[in-house]
Amino acid sequence: MERARWPDGFVCPVCAMREHSCFIVEGRRYWQCSHCRAQTSVCSGNLFHASKLPLTKWLQAIYLVTQNKNNLSALSLKRHLGVSYSTAWRVKHKLLEAMRQREPRRLLEGVVFADDAVLGGAHAGKPGRGSQNKAPFIAAVELNDEGYPQHVRFDAIEDYTGETYAQWARSALHPEAHLVTDGLASFNAAGAKVAAHGAIIVGERHSSDLEL
Ligand SMILES: [Zn+2]
Repeated sequence: MERARWPDGFVCPVCAMREHSCFIVEGRRYWQCSHCRAQTSVCSGNLFHASKLPLTKWLQAIYLVTQNKNNLSALSLKRHLGVSYSTAWRVKHKLLEAMRQREPRRLLEGVVFADDAVLGGAHAGKPGRGSQNKAPFIAAVELNDEGYPQHVRFDAIEDYTGETYAQWARSALHPEAHLVTDGLASFNAAGAKVAAHGAIIVGERHSSDLEL
């Protein structure tokens, strides 16, 4: 934990100075800044802040929640960790929140396949892009050299204009990405924001033309 947080040695989170002294209270190590006197532990100001749960349980919970392909229930987390249900529930939700905060900042890089789609559609209406009662979004998947998916993003969009797609590319893609889409003209505006853009045009266009 110490090496992960301060790979080049302690840095005060308050004033960014390095001079410090150390002391231990109830088995927990603290760093005291020699400049501003702030006292810091490896758990200060992060996910584990002020938690009474031992770090070993936290790390076990992180492993279980992140490696589980299905949604791990708080009940099964409680059983695995040997803690109360309310503790398991709080740990799970803290971890999900941390993952949620992190994801929007992740830019897809390398080869990225993207397509637009709509969510919803319980109400009858026009099919495809012009439909009402549906929330449009762009789904994008980053592939590794072997063609296996690495990360996905689903970003809601307001409309199907080139400007919107370009804005999406700026916020979702690494500038060096190689974007692959269908032939929708708005994707050209997105493609202009990254290193390369290829379009796969399959027959008459529908919103589900692109086969990943
Ligand atoms: Zn300081």
